Amino acid sequence: MQNTLTICNYCGCGCGVYLSVKNNRVVGSYPSRNHPISRGNLCSKGWHLHQFIHSKNRLTKPLLRKNGKLVPVSWNEALDVTADALLQTKKQFGPDAIGVLSSAKCTNEENYLLQKLTRVGIGTNNIDHCARL
Ligand code: SF4
Repeated sequence: MQNTLTICNYCGCGCGVYLSVKNNRVVGSYPSRNHPISRGNLCSKGWHLHQFIHSKNRLTKPLLRKNGKLVPVSWNEALDVTADALLQTKKQFGPDAIGVLSSAKCTNEENYLLQKLTRVGIGTNNIDHCARL
């Protein structure tokens, strides 16, 4: 069993958690006693952090609705469709017709980049974060 210290990605608190790996599978999670944020504690989500990693229900590919049904597509296709829809919406209704919702499961750096894309790339201040919902 190998234990690796990481940060819980369920919310923005940033608790320190060890993930236990056995035979290349993450099989457990437990708190870091020395972590300055969590100091040996985790909430129930943190204790079960390892369970989604190998879940069969986990989305691993983008899905696009075609003929009323969600079908897996490549990242290139998904990004092209998204970019086209954003450009068309901005052109037709203006940048404030677009809103972006970021995630606590992203890193600070990813959230920073998303607000930059929203404000500078799209041209709107309509950016929010799921932690405020
Ligand atoms: S253990 Fe709970 S409080 Fe800590 S980061 Fe994870 S979800 Fe947030």
